[in-house]
Amino acid sequence: MDALRIAEAVNAGALDPVEVVAEHRARIEAQDRRIHAFLTLNPAAEEEARAVAGRVAAGERPPLAGVPFAVKDNLVTRGLRTTAGSRVLENFVPPYTATAVDRLRAAGAVLLGKTNLDEFAMGSSTEHSAFGPTRNPWDLKRVPGGSSGGSAAAVAAGMVPLALGSDTGGSIRQPAAYTGVLGFKPTYGRVSRYGLIAYASSLDVVGPFARSVGDLAAAMEAIAGRDPKDATSLEAAPAFTEALDRPVQGLRVAWVRETLGPGTDPGVREALERFAGVLEDLGLTVGEVGLPELEYALAAYYLVATSEASSNLARYDGTLYGARAPGEELVAAMKATRARYFGAEVKRRIFMGTFALSSGYYQAYYGRALRARAAIARAFERAFADYDLLLTPTAPTPAFRLGEKLADPLSMYLTDVNTVAANLAGLPALSLPAGFSRGLPVGVQLLGPPLADERLLAVARAYERAAGGVFRRPPPPPQG
Ligand code: GLN
Repeated sequence: MDALRIAEAVNAGALDPVEVVAEHRARIEAQDRRIHAFLTLNPAAEEEARAVAGRVAAGERPPLAGVPFAVKDNLVTRGLRTTAGSRVLENFVPPYTATAVDRLRAAGAVLLGKTNLDEFAMGSSTEHSAFGPTRNPWDLKRVPGGSSGGSAAAVAAGMVPLALGSDTGGSIRQPAAYTGVLGFKPTYGRVSRYGLIAYASSLDVVGPFARSVGDLAAAMEAIAGRDPKDATSLEAAPAFTEALDRPVQGLRVAWVRETLGPGTDPGVREALERFAGVLEDLGLTVGEVGLPELEYALAAYYLVATSEASSNLARYDGTLYGARAPGEELVAAMKATRARYFGAEVKRRIFMGTFALSSGYYQAYYGRALRARAAIARAFERAFADYDLLLTPTAPTPAFRLGEKLADPLSMYLTDVNTVAANLAGLPALSLPAGFSRGLPVGVQLLGPPLADERLLAVARAYERAAGGVFRRPPPPPQG
């Protein structure tokens, strides 16, 4: 059941939130041994569900009453272990809760558990989790994408209707595409980052996964808006649910030539063409635009992201929280902690970022990356003078096999080639299911100018109405 239908039934007194929790728990028990979407289940879920039942009995009608949700394990949850997929936080129990999680609960949703991710959200497959990979519900030999692979797989397999992820360079959209669900990266600042374990603060955004556009909008409505605890959070939040039924006829869409290069899987290209055809049937115009500056997006992204990460991850030194390796002397203990408890990919990124920021190379790498970032933002601005929305494949190919890209970090980074630019420019971007290539889900990405979040959702909704079938097809039950 979709989130909104659960909430409706709970608010009508037709469904008991405690039963909803039990049903979803049973689905997790049946499937998650194979999929491994969850790292930690919330032992207080029944209690939280009973509290929601009490609110409903008292006359309240919370918009997400009784809706079970999952949260990527880099959003802190008070009293519930939060690992960021890392050994360094393996036993970390946070003293506070992330704003986005608090807000979903205030809207009546019930936290079922914390989901797997690449360590500190660094990766594109969830294979860099210190606790083992998550598998794609469509094909257990394939990755669910990353870094929010656990949240994507949990929603795709029907273990929860709603989940939160974080997106620094594509970590909501790429796994959404690989698992056949919707994933939304809002405009930078639209959702509070308070309680999100920082990877690259100028790029990080919290956003939802869902199986329907209505659910996605309802989740956005709950989590968006100003938070005094995050100085970069934006003031007013749009009424996402109301905006869904805005007319979309006449909107001008352009697909981005550079994102349909020779590396694009033919099935992905076909899905995009079909999608564009549906938009035309809906009365939108579809053109084509060139954004040559995107050539620098991936390089700029991996310099900015690793530079910020090298600074953000300095705090994991065993002194304040998290794991601590024994050592006689302070600096030796810090070094031993970082050497022992960080994984290989995290270390690689800290090295890259530290190098890019070092005094001799700062201008050559970090400085130039910032200039490329500004040029990319200007290129988008130009494109959005002529078009209301841009269209690209979310990723060049469908989900790849476990292990396929582990030995070659660069080929892993290349799966983000179409998603990182939105983070560099702070744009809202939505990945939605648009069909299949050789039995595997394919996602297309809609990009809008900053603050046009609702426009993306309205177009997605119109598409969903016109082609609802692709949204409804569930993955086969897991085998093997
Ligand atoms: N895959 C990209 C990276 O490894 C994006 C990750 C993310 O969005 N958190 O940096």
